[in-house]
Amino acid sequence: MRILIAADIHANLEAFQAVLRHAEQPGAIDRLWCPGDIVGYGPDPSACIALVRSYPHVAVAGNHDLAAAGKIGTTDFNAAAAEAAMWTAGQLNYEERRYLEQLPEVAYEGDFTLVHGSLRAPIWEYVLQMPAMEAQFRLMETPHSIIGHSHVAFLAEEGDDGRVWMSAWKDGDVVNLPESRLIVNPGGVGQPRDGDPRAAYALYNADARTITLHRVEYDIAATQQKMRAAGLPASLAERLSFGQ
Ligand code: ZN
Repeated sequence: MRILIAADIHANLEAFQAVLRHAEQPGAIDRLWCPGDIVGYGPDPSACIALVRSYPHVAVAGNHDLAAAGKIGTTDFNAAAAEAAMWTAGQLNYEERRYLEQLPEVAYEGDFTLVHGSLRAPIWEYVLQMPAMEAQFRLMETPHSIIGHSHVAFLAEEGDDGRVWMSAWKDGDVVNLPESRLIVNPGGVGQPRDGDPRAAYALYNADARTITLHRVEYDIAATQQKMRAAGLPASLAERLSFGQ
């Protein structure tokens, strides 16, 4: 059983397709887990929703998904993100909006809990600092959780004594699922923010009990060109070049 974990796809079809090609090269994907933000920022929201839905999958709601669906407002978004959210809402048909609107805030898959932000604030909280990490471990009812939202790949492990270790998760790093508890963020597919512009995703091999992080190059210029043609804010296109 090979499970692709693709967070923060953000309507970046070129990045998502490159991730799928890379992940499917050694064998078929059995399941797709999306920890939120299928849409927002990027130029291909409908195509990305359709591609997610073409796989057996579990997705949870991200702030951008709910904004595009009209379920939450954009007052907590910065100006460029709000503009992109309004543009995205205008691209979606009724059925696509309903799909985004019905996404749960939290989903459970075996030993894993999926949530976009955190269990105490599923849509909004950025889990990057130790207090938020510790709060997440306290609220977890499964051994492991998978989150998104920050677009930064990392691993956090809780030892038997309750101490938490956090480390950056780099291309090719394989994690053997520990007896202890784990929080993982697979980084962002469609808008990485760790200074590496390559798309990020993780692959969970449920038989070997390993999770591996991968970074994949994609045609950034093609995505940027579509964004400019669509009239999306220039800053959102430019940041893709820098992984910011
Ligand atoms: Zn996001």
